Amino acid sequence: MADTTLMTIPGQVDPVPVARDITPRADGRIDLIGLPRPRIRELFAEAGLDERQAKLRAKQVFHWLYHRGVTDFEAMTDISKTMRPWLAERFVIGRPNIVEAQHSSDGTRKWLLQTDDGHDFEMVFIPDADRGTLCVSSQVGCTLNCTFCHTGTMRLVRNLTPGEIVGQVMLARDALGEWPKGVMDGLDEAEDVGHYTADGRLLTNIVMMGMGEPLYNFDHVRDALNLVMDGDGLALSKRRITLSTSGVVPAMERCGEEIGVNLAVSLHAVTKDVRDEIVPLNKKYGIEELLQACADYPGASNARRITFEYVMLKDKNDSDEDARELVRLLRKFDLPAKVNLIPFNPWPGANYECSTPERIKAFSNIVFEGGISAPVRTPRGRDIDAACGQLKTAAQKKSRAERDREAAAAALASED
Ligand code: SF4
Repeated sequence: MADTTLMTIPGQVDPVPVARDITPRADGRIDLIGLPRPRIRELFAEAGLDERQAKLRAKQVFHWLYHRGVTDFEAMTDISKTMRPWLAERFVIGRPNIVEAQHSSDGTRKWLLQTDDGHDFEMVFIPDADRGTLCVSSQVGCTLNCTFCHTGTMRLVRNLTPGEIVGQVMLARDALGEWPKGVMDGLDEAEDVGHYTADGRLLTNIVMMGMGEPLYNFDHVRDALNLVMDGDGLALSKRRITLSTSGVVPAMERCGEEIGVNLAVSLHAVTKDVRDEIVPLNKKYGIEELLQACADYPGASNARRITFEYVMLKDKNDSDEDARELVRLLRKFDLPAKVNLIPFNPWPGANYECSTPERIKAFSNIVFEGGISAPVRTPRGRDIDAACGQLKTAAQKKSRAERDREAAAAALASED
């Protein structure tokens, strides 16, 4: 199967091919998660429903899938009892499989997930006082080999499908117990009437900042985020979604126009030499070209600033001079910018150390004095495998039997 074959790495800077949109299961059933409503309607019609029925059922099923989060056709109470097995014979409601779940003492939760064809990837939930952010992966592995990033040491296996991307958000809502139990709009046969309000949600924000470069899997990321933003779907505002790129310049304008979410850029250095080393994509799209693409990003404004991620690496990119150059560059392009300073989280085999707290503070002060917000991000989840990619590597060292046992134990624990 094309999507289970290891993809060849076409070089550090080339986009990778996009996998097909529908992946039937081994038993021939089609996973509905990740498909837009018109496609679900088409599939229902192809399976034998007349046009009117296909349209109605697609509307009902879509609502159950994305608004109510059900994972079993039997729970779709406004669909006739004879229709439900008909659906279950032909379709499935997928979720990524959970290999391992970790819960940090600071509330951070991290999951090692697995695709239906056996590839591991990660998802992290970071709760704060006034928000809860889910960090979502777009690829299994990554082609870009950023030298400070643990995922960059892994081979790219394949792009995640729209269903596997939106499936992460759905799985997080499952785990957080966040699906509403209210009456379905426009459908009057729902039985389990309860109270639902969008306020008080735990999962309020999404960042496409997990494993992979999202703009190298553009179509699937766009399709998944459209489901996340769909008012009849997961209904999360685009203002609460941020896509982080390491600087795939040709896709940035498209991202603003076709997805319209907030943009974050992994800048991490302000000189060609250093950025060429730590973000090798810089050899193809240099700093000035990248910042010009940021200045041209559709929808960026002072109300919707572009975030620049900057990992603090000791004696590499953390001098006063670097901080002043950062201010100069952001001003030169007149960018509505904020800078996130990220203390480096070392992983075994990493070639870098984290800058000292004093150095990070001094760097931050210079950027603030330059009129640009530059908070230091508090490291989260350090008592679990914290840096992106660590959980996957740790899991690879365990035997399959160990992992199966742990997954079973995690499932049992979650039943309490
Ligand atoms: S930082 Fe992002 S783009 Fe760079 S190697 Fe890691 S996952 Fe890939």
